[in-house]
Amino acid sequence: MELLDDSLVPAHARERKRAARRFAAEEIEPVAADYHASGAYPWDVLEAAMGAGFVAQHIDEAHGGRGDDLSTLLAITEEFFRVDAGIALTIQLAGFGCDMLERYGTDDQQRQYLRPVAENSQLSGLAVSEPETGSDLAGMSTEATKVDGGYRLSGEKYWVGNAVEADWLTVYAKTSDREDRYSNYSLFVVETDREGYHAEHVPEKIGMRASKQGHIVLQDCFVPEANLIGTEGGGFYMLAEFFNTGRVVVGGHGLGLAAAAIEEAEAFVDQREAFGRTVSEFQAVQHTIADMRLRFESARALVWRACQKVEAGENPGYWAALAKTEATETAVFCAERSMQLHGGRSIFADRRISRVYRDVRIPVIYEGANEIQRNLIYRHRP
Ligand SMILES: Cc1cc2nc3c(=O)[nH]c(=O)nc-3n(C[C@H](O)[C@H](O)[C@H](O)COP(=O)(O)OP(=O)(O)OC[C@H]3O[C@@H](n4cnc5c(N)ncnc54)[C@H](O)[C@@H]3O)c2cc1C
Repeated sequence: MELLDDSLVPAHARERKRAARRFAAEEIEPVAADYHASGAYPWDVLEAAMGAGFVAQHIDEAHGGRGDDLSTLLAITEEFFRVDAGIALTIQLAGFGCDMLERYGTDDQQRQYLRPVAENSQLSGLAVSEPETGSDLAGMSTEATKVDGGYRLSGEKYWVGNAVEADWLTVYAKTSDREDRYSNYSLFVVETDREGYHAEHVPEKIGMRASKQGHIVLQDCFVPEANLIGTEGGGFYMLAEFFNTGRVVVGGHGLGLAAAAIEEAEAFVDQREAFGRTVSEFQAVQHTIADMRLRFESARALVWRACQKVEAGENPGYWAALAKTEATETAVFCAERSMQLHGGRSIFADRRISRVYRDVRIPVIYEGANEIQRNLIYRHRP
């Protein structure tokens, strides 16, 4: 039975999942190793993904997208991350930061910023993390100071997907210094060609090399009042709400990566010989494969259950954190076990398993390190 089978996927998402699998096989797989080696931005694959309807299509039809729901997004995500996490992340982040604008933006903002992303003529991004602060969302220091007609933003952002490539970003900045530290932040649309906006790529990474993140310096960067998203002081809460869906999707990152690790392990031990037999004939090896499958099937059932819960609005913070944590740690477990089963060949740089092994280190950190997810699981437990 194939690992990412349809049975957990709602019927309405299955055709998109099949299309995603075809796209990944035809457009991502043939170039994945090369992009991993070069660390270049995969513009051609991104453009092909736009043509095939896989970029920013969670945006509603009213704004030019397809209105893909969370289940559809998750179904596509596990297929793409199975084939290559770096390219998959680039495809996914091309519409990052749009959710808050879709939910809380004005009609003008949606026309000016959301629609071009949905129609794939612009790229967006979400700038929250900073060089000195990542996990503590209420401890960020980039400031937006109220001035005549708008705000001036000063500070630094780090790790921002598409900071260099995007047309505009949703930027998280401090607008007050109240005792309630969660009410001090706001979200702004910041166009990347504004005066005072400078961005460069962060240093080369070991994993997800076909995705690019940037270091942004904002120096008195003026944005008009019309660029404030929702209400001033509501940034933390808008972000927390977005993370409930984002973390289910990151669960899909973990599932795709775990599936890749298991596929590589099973294929290798079935053909490798030692002591006059194939390696898969040793019971210890069979148990390792069994453990990987146990973890994978449990994580996948949990992620799809979490997806239903989040879509239904039932304690979403709890379910999203469970899904993200379990699936991303399953990917780490499966990649590590798969490396061991590959013996010395595991460390050849051009092997798919060594790419997966590097990539799995990342989803346990982004969208909130798993320690933060455990805090949320405990806090929101029913
Ligand atoms: C490839 C990649 C892409 C990214 N894309 C984006 C993006 O597009 N936009 C964006 O804004 N950010 C992005 N990020 C940033 C990411 O969200 C942060 O790296 C993450 O939130 C962790 O922040 P940090 O790295 O500053 O770690 P820190 O906050 O410095 O934490 C370091 C470690 O300390 C421990 N720790 C911290 N707090 C606690 C706690 N309360 N309890 C227990 N342990 C704790 C954890 O082990 C944690 O991993 C990206 C990161 C990567 C690697």
